[in-house]
Amino acid sequence: MSKPTVMLTPALDAFIERMPKVELHLHLEGSIESQTLLDLAARNKIEIPAQNVAGVEQLLRYRDFGEFLTVYMALVRAVVTGEDFERLAYELGRHLATQRVRYAEVMVSPMQHILRDVDMLEAIAGTAAGFARAQRETGVRVNLAFDFGRQYGPERAWHVLEVAQQAMPYGVVAWSIGGNEIGNPPEPFAEVFAAARQAGLQVMAHAGEVVGPASVWGAVDVLQSARIGHGIRAIDDPRLIAHLRTRGTVLDVSPSSNLYTGAASSWTMHPLRRLYDAGVIVTINTDDPTFFHTTLSSEFRLAVKHFGFTADDLVQVTRNAVFGSFLPAAEQVALWQEIEAEIATLRAELGV
Ligand SMILES: [Zn+2]
Repeated sequence: MSKPTVMLTPALDAFIERMPKVELHLHLEGSIESQTLLDLAARNKIEIPAQNVAGVEQLLRYRDFGEFLTVYMALVRAVVTGEDFERLAYELGRHLATQRVRYAEVMVSPMQHILRDVDMLEAIAGTAAGFARAQRETGVRVNLAFDFGRQYGPERAWHVLEVAQQAMPYGVVAWSIGGNEIGNPPEPFAEVFAAARQAGLQVMAHAGEVVGPASVWGAVDVLQSARIGHGIRAIDDPRLIAHLRTRGTVLDVSPSSNLYTGAASSWTMHPLRRLYDAGVIVTINTDDPTFFHTTLSSEFRLAVKHFGFTADDLVQVTRNAVFGSFLPAAEQVALWQEIEAEIATLRAELGV
């Protein structure tokens, strides 16, 4: 791999800070602020393995994906009522506005809530209300996706899919699988995904994060996912790379997430640059900003620092996100026109 030669100049840094953005791979529960987590745990009388913000931060260090998932599950139990979800969504919406995000697709993971007897429709109604309030105040627009934990198996997915359909009036536009990829391949979910598409939901899947190319092949060919969460292990299979290119499949890459969970062993080993250079459509995302100590602007800076991305490249990944989004085609075009015009003004002002 050639060494990146792009410098993060003050002008490029300012451009990253101020450029309008789109984020497609983001979990509501993974965006909870540490203080909010503590507040909700106290109010709902839920015991979590931390007493203060420093305690929460201490937990957010993992050796691997399994450990991350364990911490995640333990902390997310603090979120219970529709009002709690509203607060999470409102705070995330405000946060996205600080990152100059204009449009985001946010995943909610229903199973971990359903198993605790949380009323999912109440949760989604609260989530929608929180994002609506953030939109009124900041203009940021959000659509929602159900991200089903694949470890719970396809049988249980049918009931959750029904809930997802009932939640469509609240802005749920997509169905996805996430959770533990090891031992849980995509193929058994084929019928559930077909039913989701039939119901008018868009589909995507986490794949090729901790499991190799086979998982991505299944997500693309069997589940017919237009977008793949992560998909970084596709780099191990040149035939798959060509297939993704031909199909126009979008890989929603979250570099810091991959480093924290060990999905990538180092920045040098992370294949973002190689995927991008191979002509695969990639976007850059935060995944779980709280759990991976990041923001979208930070991820863009890291893309400059570690992968040599230029301003042009960052504009390209933003364009990829607009046209890879689940917005209707006409809205994608309108959103891009708005973003493109703003970027042109900003580049002229900053000279980047
Ligand atoms: Zn994810």
